[in-house]
Amino acid sequence: MTAVPTAVDPATADPGTLEDLAALVADGDVVVLSGAGLSTDSGIPDYRGATGSLRRHTPMTYQTFLRDPRGRHRYWARSFVGWPQIREARPNAGHAAVADLQRAGLVTGVVTQNVDGLHQAAGARDVVELHGGLERTVCLACGDVADRGELHERLHAVNPHFGPHVDEVNPDGDAELPDELLDGFVMVDCLACGRGPLKPDVVFFGETVPRDRVDTCFAMVEQAGSLLVLGSSLTVMSGYRFVLRAEKLGIPVGLVNLGPTRGDAKVDVRVDAPLGTVLPDLVRRLAA
Ligand SMILES: [Zn+2]
Repeated sequence: MTAVPTAVDPATADPGTLEDLAALVADGDVVVLSGAGLSTDSGIPDYRGATGSLRRHTPMTYQTFLRDPRGRHRYWARSFVGWPQIREARPNAGHAAVADLQRAGLVTGVVTQNVDGLHQAAGARDVVELHGGLERTVCLACGDVADRGELHERLHAVNPHFGPHVDEVNPDGDAELPDELLDGFVMVDCLACGRGPLKPDVVFFGETVPRDRVDTCFAMVEQAGSLLVLGSSLTVMSGYRFVLRAEKLGIPVGLVNLGPTRGDAKVDVRVDAPLGTVLPDLVRRLAA
């Protein structure tokens, strides 16, 4: 006779409960490491998460951006179309909870892999944008850092009729556009030096995170009472290395993510549940 497999009760199979997580955070000196999963409730898709495989085009690489003027042109055309959706995104309950935990003195700093600025918009302080931020541009010729909103106004002025409707914007702020539309797009130059090219102040795939920024994040983690990973599958070493460092130093790691992550075996408390419910619940228990 074949035994009928019994369903695994997620409550007992899970290596962590909300109580465990609350106990970890209650000890304070928490450093948050956040990823795309924290911003999905704000309408910014997570291309590495559950729906991420649906991403239709390969993300821009640093090498393409530097060496291929047409690739660069394509990026800026898509980005021009996608920017309003990024600009209009608002922090969600998860971002608000992180800021609340920080105001309550439990969170000392935030390292985010997100480039959407939503932690800061929710009122969080001491946020290190590991991969930069979309609201700034940097000139590859003169290094001038400028406001993305200002660039958008200038682009709008020279592309008054370039505004095809798009349904989907990628997390790095660009949208899908058919190739035949791209030729009609006009790019502008750097206001400071009159040249360029301009690049969004974000770390592209294939680009290295500036060393001093990485060192700042390592220092934050090394001084932390615990590391709390929020909404990251830890796929890229860029974020995963902080989990490895914490583990090496015996600093406890908590993780809240919907779905499995690369770090599951490395963390002390793991809660597989939506951030938009878990984090406000944490605030109610610890900081309300
Ligand atoms: Zn310049």
